[in-house]
Amino acid sequence: MSQVVEICVPDIGDFADVDVIEVLVAVGDEVVQDDSLLTLESDKATMEVPSPFAGKIMAVSVIVGEKVRAGSVIGQMEIADESPAKLAEAPVASAGPKQTTAASLASSVVAAQSLPPADKTAEVVVLGGGPGGYTAAFRAADLGKKVILIERYPVIGGVCLNVGCIPSKALLHMSVILNETKDMTAHGISFAQPEIDLDKMRGYKNSVIGKLTGGLAALAKQRKVEVVTGYGKFSSANSITVTADDGSEQTIAFEKAVIAAGSRVIKLPFIPHDDPRVMDSTDALELAEIPKRLLVIGGGIIGLEMAQVYDSLGSKVTIVELGDTIIPGADKDISRPLLKRIKARYENVFLKSKVTHVEAQPGGLVVSFEGKDCPTQDTFDRVLVAVGRTPNGKLIDAEKAGVAVNDWSFIEVDDRQQTNVPHIYAIGDIVGQPMLAHKAVHEGKVAAEVICGLPSAFTPMGIPSVAYTDPEVAWAGKTEDQLKAEGVEYEKGAFPWAASGRSLSIGRDEGLTKALFCAKTHRLLGAGIVGTNAGELIAEAMLAIEMGADMQDIGLTIHPHPTLSETLGFAAEMAEGTITDLIAPKKKK
Ligand code: FAD
Repeated sequence: MSQVVEICVPDIGDFADVDVIEVLVAVGDEVVQDDSLLTLESDKATMEVPSPFAGKIMAVSVIVGEKVRAGSVIGQMEIADESPAKLAEAPVASAGPKQTTAASLASSVVAAQSLPPADKTAEVVVLGGGPGGYTAAFRAADLGKKVILIERYPVIGGVCLNVGCIPSKALLHMSVILNETKDMTAHGISFAQPEIDLDKMRGYKNSVIGKLTGGLAALAKQRKVEVVTGYGKFSSANSITVTADDGSEQTIAFEKAVIAAGSRVIKLPFIPHDDPRVMDSTDALELAEIPKRLLVIGGGIIGLEMAQVYDSLGSKVTIVELGDTIIPGADKDISRPLLKRIKARYENVFLKSKVTHVEAQPGGLVVSFEGKDCPTQDTFDRVLVAVGRTPNGKLIDAEKAGVAVNDWSFIEVDDRQQTNVPHIYAIGDIVGQPMLAHKAVHEGKVAAEVICGLPSAFTPMGIPSVAYTDPEVAWAGKTEDQLKAEGVEYEKGAFPWAASGRSLSIGRDEGLTKALFCAKTHRLLGAGIVGTNAGELIAEAMLAIEMGADMQDIGLTIHPHPTLSETLGFAAEMAEGTITDLIAPKKKK
């Protein structure tokens, strides 16, 4: 009888993130105990990692040039079947800075063999069924692992599908149609005043969510991923206790875990959050009513998207934002056209201002402000608090597994999504900014692949951000503000959409596409786009950044005419000085 065990880098003293300079074995090699598997090199020493067992190499998951640390998975090995006790007796020694001859890697094997008693066991447990969690679970199952996915709610999909990305976009779609039909009057087409049926709108939004979450449940079933419903908390380094709504408990023992427990809305202490007229984004998506006057606290993406929905439904909207502009994180030239449009449409946009108190009165919510241009007090029918989200790191008893959670409740991970406890991984909102679904998804894939011994890492050249407002605001890679702060020399090509035939044809001229290139290599470092469909257009810039495309590559790529996608090509031509649709700015000599 034989068994396949995972082999990991042993304790290598004070060394972390050491370079692999040689991989000395390949799949199929037969090795004896203490044969060298890898050569590692730090700035101080070279060391060899010996095999803890005699056996056959079944998988190798490291490559030359990669950095490893104690606990990193080297690969898998088939060994003669031995009892966990015997494996535990194997000598454990530290690989010192000199060449090492005897180190045992048995500890990780023992962890896998001697799981605590439990109601269920899994090779991989994923805590949280949002976009990060279900992706990690599905990928690990596709790679052959027995996976249990723990989700507190009866449907998987997390914030994104249930109360985030998808419902907000369903409502924004209706909002754009309301706005566009009104704008058509200026072009000679007048529609009757729209009749709003909130129940039907809500029904449409819920049907979109239902299609997606239903699809996910079917995908989980097809992959034999077991979904356990209930609230999970670590009870040890190899077990999670799940409490169902009825109070019943079950324990799940695991070899590896992926924490994907996401984030929740931030509540402000001086606001009566228990009053139904005070909403967070989840409440706002419920469309309980159309308030006459709505105050949105926070000029970030979520606040602005919900403001747009309520504005198009007829609410008089006021935005109050602490910073000196909306959408902190985007360059100001990219967010400015949106700011100009909402200043013209909304009742008020107060920048450099804050709410200091909200009092619930029968006649409305009395709000006290501090700031340059805002009143000291005003009364609103509803208030939406959209000041950000906080990670759920401190709500899962991570300390019982030894997983470190920092002061901001984030769980820190390396680029393989590994926490300080080598067999526990974390992904998505709970590991850091930007809190975006596509980041969570990619991190989820990396965690699953690393667990399954593949040489994956989360090392993107950028993570695109999009505000699905009207106009949309999108950016990818480095912003101009970041390049300036980092002292990077760059060249900029900016193409105003007032010169785009396609943009003018759809009745809009405020857009801008900006491309930022390295001054030396001319490679694209970042891009910002504001205008209709900017969120779709930014994907081309993100691909160009990942592929190392330079301004010539982008300028010479034939874009279909007339499209908004041409504007990225034109921005590259503006930087190169080859544009013919405009006069190129003079190149600095
Ligand atoms: P989550 O989606 O938060 O999922 C975590 C899951 O874990 C949840 O289902 C939760 O119930 C479960 N859970 C938590 N703790 C436990 C526990 N102890 N036991 C069991 N289950 C637990 N992002 C975009 O990229 N694009 C957008 O357009 C976008 N729009 C948004 C709009 C709104 C209104 C909001 C609020 C967010 C939006 N986001 C958007 C952000 C996006 O939703 C998140 O970044 C994404 O959902 C994070 O995924 P996650 O897997 O890390 O966590």
